Amino acid sequence: MKVVVVGAGVAGCIVARALAALPGLEVSCLEQVVADDHSESGTGLNIGPNGLKALQRHSQALADAVLAESFLWHDWRISLTDGTVLFDLPLKNVADNPGIRIRWSELYRVLRHEAGPCVQFGCEVTGVGYADPAVSGAGRAVFDHTWIEYTQNGAAKRIDDIDLLISCDGRYSLLRQTLCGVPDIKHVGVSILRLLVPNTSGGLVEDYEQWFNGPNRMLGFRVPEDHIYVSGAFPIEPGAPIPDEMKTAAAFRRAFTPAGGPLSAQCAWLVDTLCNNLPSIHWSRLQESPALFRDPGGRVMFLGDSANGMVPTLGQGATQAIEGACMVADLLTAKLNAGGGAAEVPAWLEEVEQRRRERIKFVMEFSLYSTDTMLAGADPVAGTRKKLEPPYMENLKRLYRDISTYP
Ligand SMILES: Cc1cc2nc3c(=O)[nH]c(=O)nc-3n(C[C@H](O)[C@H](O)[C@H](O)COP(=O)(O)OP(=O)(O)OC[C@H]3O[C@@H](n4cnc5c(N)ncnc54)[C@H](O)[C@@H]3O)c2cc1C
Repeated sequence: MKVVVVGAGVAGCIVARALAALPGLEVSCLEQVVADDHSESGTGLNIGPNGLKALQRHSQALADAVLAESFLWHDWRISLTDGTVLFDLPLKNVADNPGIRIRWSELYRVLRHEAGPCVQFGCEVTGVGYADPAVSGAGRAVFDHTWIEYTQNGAAKRIDDIDLLISCDGRYSLLRQTLCGVPDIKHVGVSILRLLVPNTSGGLVEDYEQWFNGPNRMLGFRVPEDHIYVSGAFPIEPGAPIPDEMKTAAAFRRAFTPAGGPLSAQCAWLVDTLCNNLPSIHWSRLQESPALFRDPGGRVMFLGDSANGMVPTLGQGATQAIEGACMVADLLTAKLNAGGGAAEVPAWLEEVEQRRRERIKFVMEFSLYSTDTMLAGADPVAGTRKKLEPPYMENLKRLYRDISTYP
């Protein structure tokens, strides 16, 4: 049986690693970046407790490799930029284990190393299709094979007769767009900046914290090797470009300085750090796209951001890529070890969707709901107090404890 994984990001590496360990399977994982280019775009990640739980359940060895490059995430605090604490939640109250804090580049490096030689770098997939377009035109629901085209070091290449194609090529998935159309993007009306800097805070920033001034929000935490990840968020017109005047030191100071007093020591350091590193800041906009787990042809699985691009408010993008990939890896391993083969691929994809659909619906809706305090006109005090009430806490428990599993 021939399996191709497109994208050696978070989800792709986990699935490719598991499949490459199975006998009798031909597995390739094609990644567009060159070896050792674990680009991070200045980003730290907080992986939710559910991601670590899923990883440990799937493979303690893989979890240990990731943990070796991580700090544990134990506490979630929300304050105002003047230092008033609104919310201080030990994660053990809502989760079975801590989450983790890691540099995006380190997560990629570890996962790509663990996936081993099945990952081929410098391979950009440029096309995908079904083996028999004439049959496709006749409306047949299930196809026997797919193909892909890609370039490797400038040379055009092609793989035919693929029994299972796993699309882990991220939020702007070429495979999903080609096979199922460009997803409808929903803009939420929030711009987000990110910055990774050496830690000069003198201990002011450690575990995961957020600071509000009106709907303007900063977020920060420390990651190995002693760097601080800072993120900022400001409301914008939904779908509109991020105004240039928002990207200035004066705008940062205006956005975060409280009307009634000075910035807390933590926030003064964070705002100074943003203002001193303007050229290194990366900007994006909060958006989500509808979930889609498989193509109608029955041979292509979408996994991670290619299946479920969500708003990053609860740090669930990579977390869900991990949770979903661990479940898929366990499911495919069990099916193949039980003697299953290519003919059953469409049924396996249907089962993956059944196991993920409700979970992803919940995670995406909860992430979007949690964005309320970052929208134009939001009151972070009232909004954060609401998050201390039992319904929100119950949803956090569901988020962090009730992971997708197989069996
Ligand atoms: C600023 C920012 C902050 C974030 N913070 C968090 C956070 O704190 N916590 C969290 O859980 N999530 C966070 N996320 C989201 C998280 O990074 C993504 O959800 C996660 O990386 C998705 O994993 P993936 O495996 O689906 O895709 P990716 O990790 O994006 O991997 C896709 C891979 O496919 C490759 N690829 C793409 N196209 C092709 C092609 N045509 N051919 C070959 N290869 C291709 C790419 O090079 C890449 O390696 C954040 C995202 C951003 C942008």
